[in-house]
Amino acid sequence: MDNNERKQQYLRRLPGVDKLLEATGKPQAIPRQVLTASIRQVLDDIRKQILTEPGKVSSSDLSMENLAARALAAAHLILAPRLKRTINATGVVVHTNLGRSRLAESAIRKVIEASRYYSNLEFDLELGKRGSRYSIVENLLCEISGAEAALVVNNNAGAVLLCLETIARNREVIISRGELVEIGGSFRIPDVMAKSGALLKEVGTTNRTHLADYKNAINDSTGLLLKAHTSNYAVVGFTSSVPLSDLVKLGDTYGLPVMEDLGSGSFLDLSGYGLAKEPTVQESVASGAALVTFSGDKLLGGPQAGLIVGKKQMISKIKKNPLARALRIDKMTLAALEATLQLYRDPDAALEQIPTLAALTASLPHVEAKANQLAQALRQLAKEELEIELLDINSRAGGGSLPLLAIKSKGVGIRHSKISVNLLEKGLRQADPPVIGRIEDDWLIFDTRTIDSEEIELITAIVDKLTATNQV
Ligand SMILES: *Cc1c(COP(=O)(O)O)cnc(C)c1O
Repeated sequence: MDNNERKQQYLRRLPGVDKLLEATGKPQAIPRQVLTASIRQVLDDIRKQILTEPGKVSSSDLSMENLAARALAAAHLILAPRLKRTINATGVVVHTNLGRSRLAESAIRKVIEASRYYSNLEFDLELGKRGSRYSIVENLLCEISGAEAALVVNNNAGAVLLCLETIARNREVIISRGELVEIGGSFRIPDVMAKSGALLKEVGTTNRTHLADYKNAINDSTGLLLKAHTSNYAVVGFTSSVPLSDLVKLGDTYGLPVMEDLGSGSFLDLSGYGLAKEPTVQESVASGAALVTFSGDKLLGGPQAGLIVGKKQMISKIKKNPLARALRIDKMTLAALEATLQLYRDPDAALEQIPTLAALTASLPHVEAKANQLAQALRQLAKEELEIELLDINSRAGGGSLPLLAIKSKGVGIRHSKISVNLLEKGLRQADPPVIGRIEDDWLIFDTRTIDSEEIELITAIVDKLTATNQV
């Protein structure tokens, strides 16, 4: 049979859409539209293959059974959610690519309630008339931070933009050259400033900036003195920067407000847990800054949000800015934020119940116990090809907080005599649920600082499946 005859014969054997639809058994769970689209796609693909590379098509490829299975698989792929629960075995606690912070249980419950029912989101129950969503967490934020007023928006990038646009549009904003940072995901201080309409006035040098540099730059067009947390990088060695309180004094002399973008922003001093000292929100407020902005989902451990605390007069102005409406926080976020903030009234409760804080401050023996459990579970798979070892490793805070800090941790390293470490990494990443580890010294490492005890069984089952055939 020559190629042309083969093509004609194969094409004639292809079933029609209706026949193939019957052959799939038409499962209830797959919407009819999706199933027919998948069938058409499968038939198109095989038709193309027959025409271009008939030699690669086998007779069994054309069987009704195989074509139906392919169509069902294609439909399942279309229906699978793109956002998936993922196991973070990287040891990076606030991992921006993996969703930053997990919420505390109380916050999760409030999100469910806010989504399921109506709420008094913008309704004053006392007066029986329209209220403001801003009032939901304002008092709580003031209570915890010591500020006069507060406002929350969609994220910290939005908070910085909103503050600059309100206070410093068409005015010069003085900032140290060493603080003109880029945070992951394209947040760049100079770009945000340009978008806000404020005029960047950089002073000092990359490594050293002095009070006199700020002072000499002040003129009639100055609108704001800005300090930004350098977050994901550190200037070390011969360095000097101006403390916030000195900037505030300078600002007071000239009648200029001072704003600080804290980035991560923490309410708790974590230096007692082997972590470096980060400036707390309370300290920035106490220094007299007119505005302090920070993220809700970094060290704070809440939902994505941008928190602004500061002087009443400034915050009132910001609330009236139409841009605030465009950046407004939604009710589910607000519900999660209120519940998270409530935990900060009792620092012990915050450390225990907010997953980000619990993971950051977990003791080495605690992390090691989980590593032992995981190693043991993996050994019980009794796979000759699988090498398993407990390793001393370092976790990271992530989220632009404590960039230089290595947090002592324990992990489980695996390697396989028949499967390369890169293929192991890929297989785990594409598993259900995906497990994201890291490769170091030819080991695929699971850092148990960011793994829950309940996830150990899941990881073990995935490794088991992945290595079942000694090929991935
Ligand atoms: C992370 C960060 C931001 C951006 O915050 P988002 O909440 O991600 O929008 C802004 N400034 C600094 C200094 C940061 O570290």
